[in-house]
Amino acid sequence: MGIIVQKFGGTSVGSPDRIKNVANRVIQEVEAGNQVVVVVSAMGKTTDQLVSLANEITSSPSKREMDMLLSTGEQITIALLSMALQEQRHESVSYTGWQAGIETEAIHSNARIENIEVSRVNESLKEGKIVVVAGFQGISSSGDITTLGRGGSDTTAVALAAALNADKCDIYTDVTGVYTTDPRVVPSARKLHSVSYDEMLELANLGAGVLHPRAVEFAKNFEMPLEVRSSIELENGTVIEEEVSMEKNLVVRGIAFEDQITRVTVSGLPNELHTLSTIFGTLAKNGLNVDIIIQNQTDENHTNISFSVKTQDLRDTLAVLENNKDLLKYESIQHEDGLAKVSIVGSGMVSNPGVAADMFQVLAQENIEVKMVSTSEIKVSTVVDQASMVCAVEALHDSFNLAAVEEEKAKVRL
Ligand code: ADP
Ligand code: ASP
Ligand code: MG
Repeated sequence: MGIIVQKFGGTSVGSPDRIKNVANRVIQEVEAGNQVVVVVSAMGKTTDQLVSLANEITSSPSKREMDMLLSTGEQITIALLSMALQEQRHESVSYTGWQAGIETEAIHSNARIENIEVSRVNESLKEGKIVVVAGFQGISSSGDITTLGRGGSDTTAVALAAALNADKCDIYTDVTGVYTTDPRVVPSARKLHSVSYDEMLELANLGAGVLHPRAVEFAKNFEMPLEVRSSIELENGTVIEEEVSMEKNLVVRGIAFEDQITRVTVSGLPNELHTLSTIFGTLAKNGLNVDIIIQNQTDENHTNISFSVKTQDLRDTLAVLENNKDLLKYESIQHEDGLAKVSIVGSGMVSNPGVAADMFQVLAQENIEVKMVSTSEIKVSTVVDQASMVCAVEALHDSFNLAAVEEEKAKVRL
């Protein structure tokens, strides 16, 4: 007997029938003798619909009210799931984020969990109840409702599992596990039996939407065993753990991609020691995240700096640069949008030189121009034209031998 945290995403709770199916999956764990805490997302596309609703009122909703609005989505699901469990004569109780003691920093729309006061959840478990908690939301020290960023219910689940000292945390979703790449885009993608925390962290940060990056961070820091699995199929999913043996000497374990990237180039900057720190310090002070950075000295006195940003941040980035022209002393700014980032990830890269070169060769063979590059010990990221993104992913997936043999092909249901 142990404590298990189960998390069910939007599609998995997308209708009353799906919620009844979730209740059955929960009851199976209870009948196996476990104490169960369930974390749920908003039903189906509810969060997107709430965002659209706000946009019909105003093009610039305040972040506080947006969090107040979005947190209602999960509140619907917890009540319905708790009812479904009670309907099957199981005692259960639903809690919003604040009732479950989820304390976050005072930042709206992308808050980090700082602490979880688990006494109420623990008490309910001791009383023999199934506890159903709203994902994606918490409360700040000033008593305001906050949200954790899109996809943040995964993080609620893993953080709760860590705080409750749970035996494991299962993430139930609409695919049967973590695949070599998104199986909805590349049908020959293959389900991975296991992935290391570090590889999963890179994949999640580089665009593999199957897990929220902060959930992986929590799991790694607290060594919480994590399994991504299907809420419909009964087969085993993908285990995310510390050490994973290399499969058939495959150096690359997965490919992640992300569109809506823009490259900004600031030209004619003074070639001085403090140029880099001034420009990126100014952007950071304004809450802007930049990704890949390239510096290029043009003559003895001048340098150009290019960096990539998410396209949604372009307007703010240009405004900050323009407002600080006197401080930064550049000559001009150009930008190119319609770009995408394609990344290969695998811990085997550390001991295998030449993986980046192989990647560039594959892209060159496909006539795909690489506009920016960044590497770490276990990943290589390239920025390419958005129109070439899927072609790049498919070509890399093939040439690094990631495709499934016929019988293992991705089973994507729902
Ligand atoms: P949930 O609502 O259950 O949280 P998400 O939509 O957030 O589900 O995440 C599941 C989706 O992640 C899948 O439907 C799939 O399209 C996408 N995805 C992206 N990369 C991968 C990958 N490497 N493996 C599996 N799924 C992936
Ligand atoms: N409902 C939120 C979203 O759609 C959080 C989540 O599902 O994890 O992003
Ligand atoms: Mg998700």
